[in-house]
Amino acid sequence: MKTPVAAAFGLFVALTATLSGAPDPRWLGHDRERPQPPVVQPGTFSSPEQPGRPPSDAVVLFDGKDLSPWVALDGSPTKWVVKDGALECVRGGGYVRTLQSFGDCQLHIEWAAPTPPQDSSQGRGNSGVFFGLDRYEIQVLDSSDNQTYADGSAASIYGQYPTLVNAARPPGQWQTYDIIWTAPRFDDEGALRSKARLTVFHNGVLVQNNVELTGPTAWVGRPPYQAHPERLPIAMQDHGNPVRFRNIWVRELGQHRHPEFRLPEALLDSYAGAYGRNQKASLKITRLPDGLLSLPIGGTEVVLHAASPTHFYALTTDVQCQFDFSGPVKKVAVTVGEDFARAMPFERIGP
Ligand code: MG
Repeated sequence: MKTPVAAAFGLFVALTATLSGAPDPRWLGHDRERPQPPVVQPGTFSSPEQPGRPPSDAVVLFDGKDLSPWVALDGSPTKWVVKDGALECVRGGGYVRTLQSFGDCQLHIEWAAPTPPQDSSQGRGNSGVFFGLDRYEIQVLDSSDNQTYADGSAASIYGQYPTLVNAARPPGQWQTYDIIWTAPRFDDEGALRSKARLTVFHNGVLVQNNVELTGPTAWVGRPPYQAHPERLPIAMQDHGNPVRFRNIWVRELGQHRHPEFRLPEALLDSYAGAYGRNQKASLKITRLPDGLLSLPIGGTEVVLHAASPTHFYALTTDVQCQFDFSGPVKKVAVTVGEDFARAMPFERIGP
């Protein structure tokens, strides 16, 4: 059995090896003790007539029918519509985003520009696939016969990187993006530790090869990074054109304890307030940017992330909150450690 020091050293060595890109030195070459990777049933490819099947471990974001994984940016119901098995942008409907948040991931998404084509340049079949909620855009545009600036064509990283080649199909035909997203990382003080990276295949052709983003994408200008959570929703842009989407699925990469959600703003607002316990203890839950809540415990501000519409957890320490607003009294149970039987119940006492 390993001593704690040896175990910690092993972890350190493994981490260093992972960061430097070297094989993990804890395992011999051809080591029979080395764990096997999880088994995944691969999916099938799409045809023009029919969307393919996602791999078995994917989170399905759009299956041709179900709109429930999608909301407007503020979390209210989206105005986008499901029509003939596709999710269609409605002019003036605003961006659509996932309720669930994702960090590093593989995203598959299919889209078709409106036909017959209307307008030109950035006005023709414009939408976008965004990571980091609405920060980092991979352009969606009818680029089959449509002149525009190179860093604004289909599959460009908008305003930063043109594609390596133009692999666009004509409007009306289904096109695929297969995207590898690496989220930027920030330290506790909000300083940038590593930049965002994107790899994009457009219709199976490599068009972005692990490019490093300068910061959020923008029309005119390249704004600097500003700290945000690693996991955030994926969004699509309303640029006024009825672009259609289908067969959207995502595989989150890396280890996460819980799925994470960005809840509607109105629901988050309702949780903020003062809670008390036996007229003695009290606590105050407040809102933070990016859909997070704050709970001060012992002089430390614990940041809470949503694991469901009622269940929140902290990343830095094992603190969890379970809200229960189903009865006449609004309640929150706070747990330190995994033991929910010993949850401390609090009741809402004020704003
Ligand atoms: Mg766009």
